[in-house]
Amino acid sequence: MSSPTPAPLPANFLRTVIEQDLATGAFDGRRFGGSPGDAAHHAAGEPDAARIRTRFPPEPNGYLHVGHAKSICLNFGLARDFGGICHLRFDDTNPEKEEQEFVDAIIEMVRWLGFDWQAGDKSYLYYASDYFDFMYRAAETLIERGLAYVDEQTPEQMRATRGDFTTPGTDSPFRGRGVAENLARFREMRDGQHPDGAMVLRAKIDMASANINLRDPALYRIKHAHHHNTGDRWCIYPMYTYAHPIEDALERITHSFCTLEFEDQRPFYEWLLNQLADAGLLARPLPRQVEFGRLNLTYVITSKRKLKALVEEGIVSGWDDPRMPTLAGLRRRGYTAAAVRRMADDTGASKTNIWLEYAVLDQCLRDDLEGQAPRAMAVLDPVPLVLTNWAELFGAEHREPCQAPAHPQHPELGMRRFELGPEVWIERDDFAEVPAKGFFRLFPGNKVRLKYGMVVECTGCEKDADGRITRVLAAVVPDTKSGTPGADAVKVKGTITWVAAHDAVPATLRLYDRLFTEPQPDAGGRDFREALNPASLQVVQGWLEPSLAAVASEQRFQIERHGYFITDRKEHAPGAPVLNRVTGLKDSWGR
Ligand code: ATP
Ligand code: MG
Repeated sequence: MSSPTPAPLPANFLRTVIEQDLATGAFDGRRFGGSPGDAAHHAAGEPDAARIRTRFPPEPNGYLHVGHAKSICLNFGLARDFGGICHLRFDDTNPEKEEQEFVDAIIEMVRWLGFDWQAGDKSYLYYASDYFDFMYRAAETLIERGLAYVDEQTPEQMRATRGDFTTPGTDSPFRGRGVAENLARFREMRDGQHPDGAMVLRAKIDMASANINLRDPALYRIKHAHHHNTGDRWCIYPMYTYAHPIEDALERITHSFCTLEFEDQRPFYEWLLNQLADAGLLARPLPRQVEFGRLNLTYVITSKRKLKALVEEGIVSGWDDPRMPTLAGLRRRGYTAAAVRRMADDTGASKTNIWLEYAVLDQCLRDDLEGQAPRAMAVLDPVPLVLTNWAELFGAEHREPCQAPAHPQHPELGMRRFELGPEVWIERDDFAEVPAKGFFRLFPGNKVRLKYGMVVECTGCEKDADGRITRVLAAVVPDTKSGTPGADAVKVKGTITWVAAHDAVPATLRLYDRLFTEPQPDAGGRDFREALNPASLQVVQGWLEPSLAAVASEQRFQIERHGYFITDRKEHAPGAPVLNRVTGLKDSWGR
């Protein structure tokens, strides 16, 4: 009989592209030389056991953000689903901006998201800068075949002769140079005989092309700069548009998924790879570029440059500030990798850029944690509640043991234990001297249940000289202990959370709000600094139930009524708790 129908997958046209390519055999017969390389290297290799090859190609010039998570989940996820392999490739062809710190942070966060570039005993982690020699050789080949030339126009002249959407470009006076002269000049560039900006190597395609990207795009520029991998070996560096297709082809990528802004570059991608394959340098079948829409989240920015500004200007405490939309920030805030993957997977892939409501990420987190996070009680805005008849009923020294399940649906997780005593902490707003309509918590004459404890009847409060309430007073109603026979005989409309003054643990709790007040903080060229939310971080001193006294770092809880929290991975210590609120129990963004 047929198996149960699987849940429908979200619309993802990239799957269809792969399915069709597999059905038509577009990538059949590929060989893989075991490592990146030219046509000869792969021809000598084995038939490629990977049905497809994808890659995630970050530039190591900043930390990964939530938009990158989309690309990671797509590339690694599709490779996994189709029996392929996804490479992690550092696109480090640009000197100056790239740093080891970023390489390490990227590796850490791709792993955190749950992906791996290891298959069998092989690692598919590559650095584009390892391909500089090939890129140089390919450039000389293009020159030799009359497909590239050295242009000595100034950058201004080049811009001016490029034309625009309505005007065709005009040929550079250097466009007609012969092969020998081009080769000699290009080698001078390589040998450091010219200053930055003096000349560039350009492809010779068509200055009148309707696609401006085909109007003799630059391939190499002079940059006397130190590179984190190749040191001072090179003073010319390939342009991204030249480097990226070559990187894909050397690695035998089948599907090169990139964001929509590269759509206009696809004709050049194909031109370049076909020329180099015709010249015998690159193996066929060649990789195929397919563009998909970017994922943007409301109330955050995902430009690395702007995120860097937030860090450098001290607006946030670092790349992993829990308010940052970096993966390091989301992890520290307490989002789970499963929630981030779920958000990415549920949005599928389409041909338009999308703005996803931030609330969707929060809902993914709740869905993940609701069934597994242990419960706890804590008081975030404490005021003492004094049980005035405690001594009379039980004796002043008496402490009443109470218990609650660690998780309501998981009895195997056991019980949390704490005690009730003559004084407890309650939330300041759980008391009202004069109750508003519909207020069922503490007010003089009203009874409430202290959750998992006893019913108490409010008798009044005490205030300081400024009229601020210093203590709330109540009397225990006898024989109402939760879980004892007859405890429910006294009916109450309200139940409040509490922790006992004698066994509560003092804690620092960080309550976050969105970092920006605008759904699209940098839309229309607006300076994102103008949309900063001055109240994005509120730090409070509260009290936790004693079961959290020795809790380790990076543990998540649902604190009843207050939301999901995590013990901070850097600043928390057992005995000195520091907790971050990930999100509330329900969406309160519209409040
Ligand atoms: P930024 O403009 O912030 O520097 P980038 O796209 O230049 O971002 P890269 O490190 O080059 O950053 O990106 C690595 C990969 O992640 C690329 O393939 C890129 O297309 C993809 N990517 C980046 N941002 C998003 C996004 N918002 N949605 C989907 N994919 C993205
Ligand atoms: Mg980039």
